[in-house]
Amino acid sequence: MSNRRKAQAIQALDAMCDQLPIPGGCLDCNAEQTMTRDSNGVYRITIHHEDTCPWLAGIERRKGETTC
Ligand SMILES: [Zn+2]
Repeated sequence: MSNRRKAQAIQALDAMCDQLPIPGGCLDCNAEQTMTRDSNGVYRITIHHEDTCPWLAGIERRKGETTC
């Protein structure tokens, strides 16, 4: 990837960080996504599920079953 294309990609990702929230991210609820960039330049997408999301409930249930 050329430096110009890298700069365009970073610019596009930075623009997404300003578009909060972004609809979608889950097929089972009306989730919203937020995107951030940390101090190391790593982009992170966080999906915010509805409280009633069955997929999220399944994840939470499995967390409760995990023993270390
Ligand atoms: Zn969901």
